[in-house]
Amino acid sequence: MPVASQASAAEQIVARDHQKVVRNYGRYQLVVNRAEGVYLYGEDGRRYLDFLSGIGVMALGHSHPRVVAAITDQIGTLVHCSNLYYHPLQGEVAQLLSELSGLERTFFCNSGSEAVEAALKIAKGYGRSRSGGKTEIVALHNSFGGRTLGAISVTGQPKYREPFEPVIPGVRFIAPNDLGALEAAVGEKTAGIVFEPILGEGGIIEISAEFAGLARKLATDHDALLICDEVQCGMGRTGDTFAFHHWGADFLPDVITLAKPLAAGLPIGAVVCSEAAAAVLAPGMHGSTFGGGALACRVAREFLGMLPEMLPHVRDVSAYFRAQLASLAAGYDFVGGLRGRGLMVGLELSIPGGGFVPRAQELGLLMNCTAGNILRFLPPFVIEREHVDEAIAALDQVFSQVPPDATA
Ligand SMILES: *Cc1c(COP(=O)(O)O)cnc(C)c1O
Repeated sequence: MPVASQASAAEQIVARDHQKVVRNYGRYQLVVNRAEGVYLYGEDGRRYLDFLSGIGVMALGHSHPRVVAAITDQIGTLVHCSNLYYHPLQGEVAQLLSELSGLERTFFCNSGSEAVEAALKIAKGYGRSRSGGKTEIVALHNSFGGRTLGAISVTGQPKYREPFEPVIPGVRFIAPNDLGALEAAVGEKTAGIVFEPILGEGGIIEISAEFAGLARKLATDHDALLICDEVQCGMGRTGDTFAFHHWGADFLPDVITLAKPLAAGLPIGAVVCSEAAAAVLAPGMHGSTFGGGALACRVAREFLGMLPEMLPHVRDVSAYFRAQLASLAAGYDFVGGLRGRGLMVGLELSIPGGGFVPRAQELGLLMNCTAGNILRFLPPFVIEREHVDEAIAALDQVFSQVPPDATA
C-alpha cells in the first residue's frame, strides 16, 4: 500500500469511503467521475460502457439533454414545498400514470422500498376493512421488495430478512410459477398477493401468463389486492410500458409499485392503484415529506412524455442484443440460455458468474451478477447497435480469457 501522500486520487477516495461510510455495500473497484450518454467515466481516465444503468435507473442514459433542461428549469422555479400544499406537477404525473396503466390514482414517495411499503399498508388496510379482517400477504421465493422492514418481510431471500427477524408476520412464500402452491396459499385471510412480473434481483425470472392469470382470478375471488412490483421491470424496460402488459389487455393488477427509472435518476417512488385500493388511505394515514416533490415530478413528467416513442427502439435494440448474446453463448459451453424480456436481460451460466464482472469492467463493460450465476444487463434504453457490438466483443474476450478458477 502506498502511503497516503503518494496514493492516487482514486485510492484516497476509496480509503476515505472505507473509513467514514457505513460498510453496507460491497463495491467494485471503480471511482466514477462523471457520465454522459451510455458511458461512465472513471477517476482512472477510462470510459465504461454502462450496461447496468445504475441498476435500471438511468433509462435515458446519463445527462440526457431533455432531463438536464427539465432539471435546470425546475430547480430555479420550485424544488420542494411539502405535501401541506398543492403544486401542479404531482397531478400531471399521476394523470399520465393513469392513462398509461388504466388505474385511477397515484401515491408518490422516493424509492422502490417506500413504494412497496405503501402498497403493503394499502393491502393491510384493505384487508382489515373487509369483514373477518384479512391479514395475510402471499409473496414469492427469490423476490426482492427492497430493504425497509416491510419490504424485507415480503422479500423471499432469507439473507436479506433473517438478520432482522422477527419481521412483519403473516407472509406466505411460494415458488414463482407454482400454480398449485398459489392456489393453496390464497384464502379468506389473504389481503394481498405481491410479485414482480419479472423477478430482477432474484435472477431475472419471468412469471408465466398462467401464474399471473391465476393470481388475478384468486385475488378477485377472495377480495384481495393484486400487487405488481414493477420497480425494476416496469416503465418500458421490457419493451412494454408495464411488464404486465405482456399478459394482454385484460390483465390489470390493483396496485403497481414503481421507482427506479421513473425520474431518470432523481429519487422517486410511486404506487399506482385502483380507486378501491386508494380509498384505504384517508388523510393522515400515510405520507412522505419528500414524496412527489416538484423537481422529481418534473423529470418524471419528462420521462413519461418520452416513454411511448422510445418503446419501438427498446424492442428493436433488445432483439438485436438478445440475438448477439445467443450466438455468443453458443460458443461457450458454460454459457446457457437468456432470461427476461426487452432490455432486462439475464445470461445464465453453469458456473459462478461473480468473477466475470470485474473482468468485464477491466475491459470497459459494466454489468453485474445476481443469484450467483446470472449475468444481468439493464442497459439504458438509448443504446444503439454499435454499443451492443461493443458489449458483445468485451464479453467474448471475458469468456475466452477467464479461467474457470477465477470465477469463484
Ligand atoms: C430495487 C427494487 C426495489 C427497491 O427499490 P429501492 O429504490 O432500492 O428501495 C423494490 N422492488 C424491486 C423489484 C426492485 O428491483
